[in-house]
Amino acid sequence: MQRNTSFDFTLQNAQGESCVAQAWAKVRPSLDAAERFALKQRIQEALKQRNAVLIAHYYVDGDLQDLALETGGYVADSLEMARFGRNHAAETLVVAGVRFMGETAKILSPEKTVLMPDLDATCSLDLGCPADEFSAFCDAHPDRTVVVYANTSAAVKARADWMVTSSCALEIVQHLKDRGEKILWAPDRHLGRYIQEQTGADLVLWQGDCIVHNEFKSEELAMLRRAHPDARVLVHPESPAGVTAQADMVGSTSALLKAVVEGDASTYIVATDKGLFHRMRQLAPGKHLIEAPTAGESATCKSCAQCPWMAMNGLEGVLQCLTKGIGEIQVAPETQRRAHRCIDRMLEFTQQRSGTLRQGLVPHLGAV
Ligand code: SF4
Repeated sequence: MQRNTSFDFTLQNAQGESCVAQAWAKVRPSLDAAERFALKQRIQEALKQRNAVLIAHYYVDGDLQDLALETGGYVADSLEMARFGRNHAAETLVVAGVRFMGETAKILSPEKTVLMPDLDATCSLDLGCPADEFSAFCDAHPDRTVVVYANTSAAVKARADWMVTSSCALEIVQHLKDRGEKILWAPDRHLGRYIQEQTGADLVLWQGDCIVHNEFKSEELAMLRRAHPDARVLVHPESPAGVTAQADMVGSTSALLKAVVEGDASTYIVATDKGLFHRMRQLAPGKHLIEAPTAGESATCKSCAQCPWMAMNGLEGVLQCLTKGIGEIQVAPETQRRAHRCIDRMLEFTQQRSGTLRQGLVPHLGAV
């Protein structure tokens, strides 16, 4: 029987007032080794039959990450997932991640079929930034360039001038500041504050947050650092200010992975979703990785450093969407057309700057 979990997230209205709302996610039943093996075999066949490719985010289950690489697909952050999906020749993209990632893939490749293992897999940043409230917020600041994080709906992107991911947000905001532009930023307030500090740009911030990264605790991190004085601290910028302030390096998922793989330290304390540890352990097997502290697994259902919506992606869902055609992403043509501009702008910008990004992108590191 399906089990659900529920938790609170931050919702903002157009006046900048935030409130607490409730969301839910499904909990997948666990599978034994034989079931997982059988499902992987069937998915490999189905991918071939449908001329499909599997694209997985670093935060999803390790089985899906491995299967994506074993079948010629990709494991990446949201920027590189979008680019890979757009450039791949497959007729069908299976996107293992959360809904905005499937929508982005569809916006960039409207001619392709985009399937997702579970269309209910969403994101607290997306939920906390409803398109109508966001549009009113933009109307209240007509002199500002609208920059939105990838973690938003297609309708919010359709209202924006630029989309950014955590891999390229600093460079794009710096570029806009250098052109003398003032910025309206949405929806992650921690990432917005971090970018504001780093660039000195004039930003008005939407007050959303990620329920996973918002849970990292600064005092507990300070204690952990004292216990491991030689450890390097790596932090995703969706984390609170007290956590980023203690970081040796702040960066996107790709940049954190690169820092572990290429770094000369033997121990790393990492503040991001623990799904990324799967790839870190594969690519840097000799390194000691420690999860940055949250309130702990028994505190609340969102305090385990694991995104409940990313965790909804499983082998069963991938097989079902491939064989039954369910979980197809649809984006209305007008929304698609308008959202395409802001995503394309980012892809062009990062293409031109590739190799020079301050936080760095990890090139595809291949199967292990
Ligand atoms: S980890 Fe946070 S930002 Fe990423 S999908 Fe989950 S809720 Fe959204």
